[in-house]
Amino acid sequence: MDAALKEILLIEAEKHALYNALKYQGPSQVKTVMGILMADYPDFRQFANEIPALISPLIEQVNSLEISAQLQRLTNIDSDLAERLEEEFVEEPKRQLPDLPNANSYGQIRMRVAPNPNGPWHIGHARMPSVIGTYKSLYDGWFVCRFDDTDPATKRPLLEAYDWILEDIQYLGFEPDEVIMASDRLNFYYEHALKLINLGGAYTCTCPSSEFSNLKNSGRPCPHRENTIEQTLNEFQDMVDGNFSAGDVVLRVRTDLANPNPAIRDWVAFRMVDVPHPREVAQTHRCWPLLDFQSAIDDHLLEITHIIRGIDLQDSAKRQQYLYDYFNWNYPEVVHWGRINIDDHPVPLSTSSMSDSIKSGNFTGWSDLQLPTLKNLERRGIQGGAITSSMIDLGTSTNNITLSISTIYSKNRSHIDEVADRLFFIKNPSEKQIFGRNLPETVEIPVHPDHPDRGFRKLAITPSIFIDSSDIPGAEDILYLKGIGSVRYTRDSFEFIEDDFSSAQSQSMPIIHWLPSTHEQLCLKTSQGEFNGIVESTICNYNSGDLIQFERVGFAKLDINSGVYAAYFSHP
Ligand SMILES: [Zn+2]
Repeated sequence: MDAALKEILLIEAEKHALYNALKYQGPSQVKTVMGILMADYPDFRQFANEIPALISPLIEQVNSLEISAQLQRLTNIDSDLAERLEEEFVEEPKRQLPDLPNANSYGQIRMRVAPNPNGPWHIGHARMPSVIGTYKSLYDGWFVCRFDDTDPATKRPLLEAYDWILEDIQYLGFEPDEVIMASDRLNFYYEHALKLINLGGAYTCTCPSSEFSNLKNSGRPCPHRENTIEQTLNEFQDMVDGNFSAGDVVLRVRTDLANPNPAIRDWVAFRMVDVPHPREVAQTHRCWPLLDFQSAIDDHLLEITHIIRGIDLQDSAKRQQYLYDYFNWNYPEVVHWGRINIDDHPVPLSTSSMSDSIKSGNFTGWSDLQLPTLKNLERRGIQGGAITSSMIDLGTSTNNITLSISTIYSKNRSHIDEVADRLFFIKNPSEKQIFGRNLPETVEIPVHPDHPDRGFRKLAITPSIFIDSSDIPGAEDILYLKGIGSVRYTRDSFEFIEDDFSSAQSQSMPIIHWLPSTHEQLCLKTSQGEFNGIVESTICNYNSGDLIQFERVGFAKLDINSGVYAAYFSHP
């Protein structure tokens, strides 16, 4: 490609990448931009092989810009396109989330996604980063991904899950401004515990938990509540030094024993855990804060302005309010939302139940395609943007809401239909002879029905062809072999009649796909199992990660390993 053409290419690629990123509020894909360039600029087509490498750094750069900077840049290089975008925005307002409470009272909106990395994220987990990431763009705000990983025993962190979750956030189209791990921050929590003890706000308690529970439920104090600050400081230091075992002692926050809700009364801030934390840097700690204490301290230290949390966690705010009162801090604004359920997926959205099912052998592992994890959706070619926009559509109501996986599929379809090339794939091949006067030797079928400019697949009509065994017609039935024409099924063979699609259409003939005797093997991996079928030889033009529509089967994402073809099924 000469320098002049290359310059045009880069300008066109940049503006379409900007336009796409802005329009769909997510990162632009090289493949999408390629599709547009190939369709609109015939001169580029002969360089189709070298273009992805030329434009992908540019697209990465576009994706790294803030929305405001993307819009500014697009206005600079193509004001018409920027205007068109604005018109489209007016037609379909994107701001579906309610305003954040008292947003104007804060210099900067600061929020947090606070996962416990005890497993990979499932679809339900996508809601928090989708909403917070969207608020970040709307308010030009800031968000942190804070791993609340202070439970080494019962909700034990899984080391791989830290990276998985960060990859998931990126997959959804967002980038945290900061990433921190609570297990790195024990000294902050200890420091604040000491301050709290000195303020008279906490005491160590060695009551057996059932005994304490009885006292608490009847609104009575335990004897340790009267311990001196000195005594408490000493005992807490022993906790930190690991001189106790699990169950021996806890540090309680002194609240109000007359509080009508027993769950708020003198709650536990720290306890002993015998099991070492899986992260090497945190392995020596035995005295661990509970989530209410840890997140309260971190929310303040990180200057979080708005918290989004489940309505079932309302007690947390009430417990934490006591800490904020002792320290004379202002509690962040809280938005409560309801639970999210998924109605048409057989596996429930629960990390612990998925984990149990893996242990009991019902699933092969976290990558089992039946599991509704984000990693699996990504593997299957579901675009992060399709998930994000489904989540934004749900809003932030306090009602429990139900999401259909089919909603995500239908959004995904509109995301990938344009980019996915069409290919024939046959799950259960059955060989048939084909003959007839005027039977052509080869046929050409468009790579994409809406974009003839993207070229044609050439298929040879060999003396024997393959169709799916589910498509075998009855004797003397007439059907239409896509690309070839109408054929009559007679004596286990196809007799060619004519190549007239409109006549086939007017007779509502079944249209089926087929493959010549030269083809490749492909394993289609679905949540219902694997299908070892056959696919067009042109599969060799594609790469791992490419999105394809197997005609009459569905969308899939290719997975090619040293010439062995496989694909993950997305949806019909
Ligand atoms: Zn006690």
